[in-house]
Amino acid sequence: MVTQEATQNQTKQAWEKDKAHIIHPYANFEKFAEEGSVIYAEGHQHWIYDADGNRYLDGIAGLWCVNAGHGREDIAATMAEQAKKMAYYNTFEDASSIPASELAAELARLSPGSLNHVFFGTGGSMANDTAIKMAHYYFNLKGMPKKKKVISRDLAYHGSTFLAHTLTGIASTQIGFDLVKDLVHYVSAPYTYRRPEGMDEAQFCDFLIQELEEKIIALNPEEVACFIAEPILGAGGVLVPPKGYHKRSWELCKKYDILYISDEVVTAFGRLGHMVTSKDMFEVEPDMLVMAKGISSGYIPLGATMVSDEIYEVISQPKKANPYFSHGFTYSGHALACAVGLKNIQILEEEGFCQHVQQWGPYFEQQLKTLEDLPIVGDIRGSHYMLCIENVANKATKEGFGDEVAIAKRIYHHAKNRGLIIRPIGPLNVLSPPLTYDKAAIDETVDILRSSIKATMDDLVRENIW
Ligand code: PMP
Repeated sequence: MVTQEATQNQTKQAWEKDKAHIIHPYANFEKFAEEGSVIYAEGHQHWIYDADGNRYLDGIAGLWCVNAGHGREDIAATMAEQAKKMAYYNTFEDASSIPASELAAELARLSPGSLNHVFFGTGGSMANDTAIKMAHYYFNLKGMPKKKKVISRDLAYHGSTFLAHTLTGIASTQIGFDLVKDLVHYVSAPYTYRRPEGMDEAQFCDFLIQELEEKIIALNPEEVACFIAEPILGAGGVLVPPKGYHKRSWELCKKYDILYISDEVVTAFGRLGHMVTSKDMFEVEPDMLVMAKGISSGYIPLGATMVSDEIYEVISQPKKANPYFSHGFTYSGHALACAVGLKNIQILEEEGFCQHVQQWGPYFEQQLKTLEDLPIVGDIRGSHYMLCIENVANKATKEGFGDEVAIAKRIYHHAKNRGLIIRPIGPLNVLSPPLTYDKAAIDETVDILRSSIKATMDDLVRENIW
């Protein structure tokens, strides 16, 4: 029998090994040196447990991804079954597997328009890199080798590989890194809360569309390959664009023969109440669609780049110069990962997760908005199970707290002590829970947030900061 003492020793050792050896993504090295990591050990539905047995509501679904909820026996069984049968074989050239081919067909079924072809990878960054490489390859084969530039947006998050990091328009993430700057160009984020003074939402939309068109013209349409956009910007601040924004951007892309890439890494697989949102919510049939995270509910790394019939026809033409499409990863179409993806889609559909999110999403938004009476809550925004609070020092002027105040981190700590995990990003507290979140979880989340924000305000007063 494992004693409590043995478990505590194991946790302590894990903590020490972690501190000695892991370079954490987005590490704050100073804080890390002081505090080390929190070791998480178990999950069930929308709860997560640390190694000391403390239970938390997982308000962020791991990292916007555990859509079907933690600890599912059926996914574990699928994994075991596929692992015993054949965990892996490559999919290069002519090799394939039943899970890879079945998942490809399922993704084609779920995707809008003629997005019938998939290139598999292991995550969102890789899938975005693939999309850009594919866009270049496509135009090269069409005899338009000048079409190379990519238009992205301020505050966009598209990943951390070399190219995806450059697509990411969050300035603070770029400090200290060398990126492929000449390739990527940015337009404004659809940041409705901080839109220019005196504009209503419709005028703001006109402004953004005009800016995009001016950018295309300034870059020369003959040199612009693609525009990449998240339907709702996630890590950049859960920014819901003004009505019609995506449709009009897509129309501009068509006008100038520019490929529209929809990055649905966060938004697909139920988070907004639809399996895929581009067409159903934003009236866009993209040329490429990028998926990851919820595709496997985080049970295994998996990503997918969907491409249209038209792109496939061009890239699949045998060329004398290079008969091979020389792009591929060892784990493209990983059999075990694809089996998990298939099972996950089956679960999301059969258990009605989209309907559940459509039912409870508006309630979640409405309950969260009750926090608007708190003096430091500047904006509450988002949609369904993708929500965010922007904290400010002055509601009337929208002036923020200085970075040194680390306002969202303070609220995060209070919430964590009360049994809720949220994600602090700059001045924002983000919520993106498992789709299993029910009324009780929503109510508890909002209660904890209220008392955590109040406790934070008390701290600020006590410390003479506010
Ligand atoms: N695109 C979006 C919209 C994302 O939110 C993320 C990750 N948060 C990525 C791409 C990158 O995905 P990954 O971390 O799996 O590479």
